[in-house]
Amino acid sequence: MRIIDRLNSEGIHISFEVFPPKTDTGFESVLRATDEMAKLSPSYMSVTYGAGGGTSKNTVKIASHIQHDLGVPALAHLTCYSSTKEMVADVVKQLKENGIENILALRGDIPKDVDFPLPNQYRHASELIEDIRSQGDFCIGAACYPEGHPEAAHKKEDIRHLKEKVDQGVDFLTTQMFFDNNYFYNFLYRIREQGITVPVIPGIMPMTNGRQIKRSCEMSGAELPARFRAIADYFGDNPAAMMQAGIAYATDQIIDLIANDIRNIHVYSMNKPEVAAAIVRNLSDIIA
Ligand SMILES: Cc1cc2nc3c(=O)[nH]c(=O)nc-3n(C[C@H](O)[C@H](O)[C@H](O)COP(=O)(O)OP(=O)(O)OC[C@H]3O[C@@H](n4cnc5c(N)ncnc54)[C@H](O)[C@@H]3O)c2cc1C
Repeated sequence: MRIIDRLNSEGIHISFEVFPPKTDTGFESVLRATDEMAKLSPSYMSVTYGAGGGTSKNTVKIASHIQHDLGVPALAHLTCYSSTKEMVADVVKQLKENGIENILALRGDIPKDVDFPLPNQYRHASELIEDIRSQGDFCIGAACYPEGHPEAAHKKEDIRHLKEKVDQGVDFLTTQMFFDNNYFYNFLYRIREQGITVPVIPGIMPMTNGRQIKRSCEMSGAELPARFRAIADYFGDNPAAMMQAGIAYATDQIIDLIANDIRNIHVYSMNKPEVAAAIVRNLSDIIA
């Protein structure tokens, strides 16, 4: 099923995310996580793509398992910075052969010490999207950044490039994580003003591990509001308490989004079915 059709259908849609193992040994445990998450009836499940492209084979295999064995629409991420155009075309071909029709097309983070782009590479996600469009009838998603992409000089420039990207044939956008919903509402206003009309799915990250919080925010550029910082400072060294507080904070964000008429929400569940299940439990009457 094309994800855009699910997003445009009636009701509230919650989706989850898994990431592939770095080595084949972790494969079974990721499959188990997908199996548990599928029991929560997500609208779709996404599978990330390893930063260096090395896990591409596993992304295709896990997406295929989600779609064909679990009956949940799969969204395969695909990044291009570390691959030639031929390598990307090969992954697109594998996705097509496996019946995966939903792709989240991304550039990827450029490490500081690499030459980029080489002659046979895509410079921006927009170029990748244009090419995927020409290779099949895919439903294509792309990334967006309510607080601005860390490389962008300012939000206006970032949104101008986002518009170029969407115009290459993007069906929907998923946001970077944010911890203050006002960034999302402000972003929606700005992009609608610039003529970007596709559905935008807020990406909510339940911060359940005190040690990861600082690093995740540095990498994503997401600002930690004082309210969340107080939670992280107070509970960060107590894993069980931090887990509970992180789930409660994410639930609160989701309830606020739903109360503001946002019907599609993506949870960065990161191979943690227990986190996904706790959030669904907290929302049981809200999303019924
Ligand atoms: C929802 C989501 C999922 C993600 N999944 C993954 C994943 O699975 N694997 C992974 O490795 N990473 C993932 N990332 C991280 C992502 O790869 C990085 O944020 C990366 O730095 C940017 O990717 P992009 O596709 O947004 O790039 P782009 O859209 O190419 O934008 C990158 C930067 O270039 C600028 N830009 C765009 N076009 C132009 C232009 N024509 N001229 C000048 N500047 C331009 C933009 O303003 C922005 O600053 C994800 C991010 C999000 C939000």
